[in-house]
Amino acid sequence: MDDHPVHPPPPESSGLPLLHNLTCSEIESWMVAHGTPPYRARQLWQWLYVHRCRDLARMTNLPATLRNQIADAFVTDPAHITETQGVEGDTRKLLLRLRDGEQVESVLIPAENRRTICVSCQAGCRFRCAFCASGQAGFRRNLEPGEILAQVLSACDLWQQPPTHVVFMGIGEPFDNYDAVLQAVRTLNDQDGFRIGARRITISTCGMVPGIERLAGEGIQVELSVSLHAPNNALRNRLMPVNQRYPMEVLMPACDAYTRQTGRIITFEYTLIHNLNDGPECARELARLLQGRPARVNLIPLSPVAEFPHAPPAPEQAERFAAILTEARINSTLRLSRGCALDAACGQLRYRPL
Ligand code: SAH
Repeated sequence: MDDHPVHPPPPESSGLPLLHNLTCSEIESWMVAHGTPPYRARQLWQWLYVHRCRDLARMTNLPATLRNQIADAFVTDPAHITETQGVEGDTRKLLLRLRDGEQVESVLIPAENRRTICVSCQAGCRFRCAFCASGQAGFRRNLEPGEILAQVLSACDLWQQPPTHVVFMGIGEPFDNYDAVLQAVRTLNDQDGFRIGARRITISTCGMVPGIERLAGEGIQVELSVSLHAPNNALRNRLMPVNQRYPMEVLMPACDAYTRQTGRIITFEYTLIHNLNDGPECARELARLLQGRPARVNLIPLSPVAEFPHAPPAPEQAERFAAILTEARINSTLRLSRGCALDAACGQLRYRPL
């Protein structure tokens, strides 16, 4: 572990809004309102997201008076890395301190041809899935769009280039902070932004049906993952309280409608928990549930979480589960969870109260 601060300590919160919370057209309106030609907005935008510059003094193609006006109205430095764990080239966990002192975690996952960042979208989580660390300390607040982007900017600093993939699988529920997440996604995808292809951006939901319905109408080709974890209501209710609000007879038709409307296949996440949802009968029930549905299943062995006294399955048990799905012609992959040693694996990211 190296826990050196990568940046100087964060400045006290000035109460000013974060520049990275604005869309390019909002910056344009601001420019016009401040007597500046609208083309300046695109120049500023490129400084922020192509050059990933937080220092107004370096934005030398913008007039000094404009830079002063921006400095008087906005914060340009959205977050600071207060801690990094792990070593370069391997999975690393970042702790980011936001302007009000809240802290969130992100995970950088390098692989041969890709650089993936797993981002958080909320400080804490309301959904309290039994097996997930993120909601154990409750919910504090939504992240602003710029605070989601700040995590990606930190990854750019450490990697000295943008990630190739972004997954919304850190702390929080993306559809419980829908607008900020979608705005961040659009900036990640923007040709003058991070230029990350929509299909390389994954939103993972615990099954908030209104969000699935809204995303279907966005006309954006992001990947959608739905955390299922159980093949029936009785078991899913035990693991995921959200199932009482959006039970499977509501969730599955919403997923079908999403696929019909977008032509996109949904990935169902299924965390395998020893003696709880990893038996052959669960595998067969899952296969029946997904039969005839264009779907993919990601099987993830449980990552240990202190508050949930259960274990992952033995490897043979996990393989048996996967084999039953394969026999039923359901597409599945058994994922090796990375980052366990750092408590940086799926479901281990934790909100740390102030
Ligand atoms: N709220 C979103 C995204 C965050 S969790 C969602 O629920 O999908 C990202 C993924 O990690 C989800 O599939 C989640 O169910 C899974 N996960 C949570 N806790 C886990 C654990 N202890 N072991 C393995 N996977 C876990």
